[in-house]
Amino acid sequence: MDAAPSDRLLLVTGGSRGIGAAVARQAAAAGWHLAVNYTRDAAAAEAVCADVRAAGRQAWAVQADVADEGQVAAMFARLDAEAPPLAGLVNNAGVVDRAQRLDEMDLARWQRIFGINVIGTLLCTRAAVRRMSSRHGGHGGSIVNLSSVAARLGAPGWYVDYAASKGAIDTLTVGLSRELAAEGVRVNAVRPGIIDTEIHASGGQPDRARDLAPTIPMQRAGTADEVAASIVWLLSDAASYTTGALLDVTGGR
Ligand code: NAP
Repeated sequence: MDAAPSDRLLLVTGGSRGIGAAVARQAAAAGWHLAVNYTRDAAAAEAVCADVRAAGRQAWAVQADVADEGQVAAMFARLDAEAPPLAGLVNNAGVVDRAQRLDEMDLARWQRIFGINVIGTLLCTRAAVRRMSSRHGGHGGSIVNLSSVAARLGAPGWYVDYAASKGAIDTLTVGLSRELAAEGVRVNAVRPGIIDTEIHASGGQPDRARDLAPTIPMQRAGTADEVAASIVWLLSDAASYTTGALLDVTGGR
């Protein structure tokens, strides 16, 4: 796979804002065509696609809830029909919930978090492997999963369920990297620390990045672009011997 493939497609789940949008923009600059997945905010996804096209690459905004098997199948079928061959997948779509202890949580919360963060990653990854693996006649590719430093720290008192979902992503990354290593597909994960995006507001803590900055060795939150740079490198041929890596992007946390 070329470092800057001229005819290959990258699918970024949850690409309409935050880390996913930064990945889409940086990947376009690196030569990828983009499929920008989202669920609710079509205008935001279209704005990212406009930036991709301004960089001279093709872009598709594709709506699908990654936790829904039928919607994921329809998304990949549309890309098969309209877009270049898939060569990259960034499993970025992910959610948190309000800070709670485990003994306060309910089943619906766990089903939502594990449905999107884990099942969503499994569904998109299965579809990508069926297209990229040499076992299926594909030409190889690269998968990058969004884990979290929470997988290592556990997020006690905040969201141990979210942390556990990201622990599952770490284990999936290691196992799948070995399963696919001889089939031309690399699988890696990035584990961000506290990154300044809207995800914290969605968990009821809009100022979380600012408030926790003093607890971070670098004394500041990271940016979506700082995480995206590591992801675009892992996607590229410059990382051709890197698979099964869990890369912390945490400011030292
Ligand atoms: P964000 O700003 O909240 O963006 C989340 C994106 O995911 C949005 O584009 C959203 O699109 C999409 N999305 C949500 N549910 C979806 C679903 N069911 N199907 C498809 N798309 C869905 O989040 P972020 O901070 O950029 O985080 C991105 C990833 O990094 C997540 O996996 C997160 O767990 C991980 N991470 C973030 C941090 C951090 O501090 N920010 C730290 C560690 C790990 P719509 O609004 O259109 O649905």
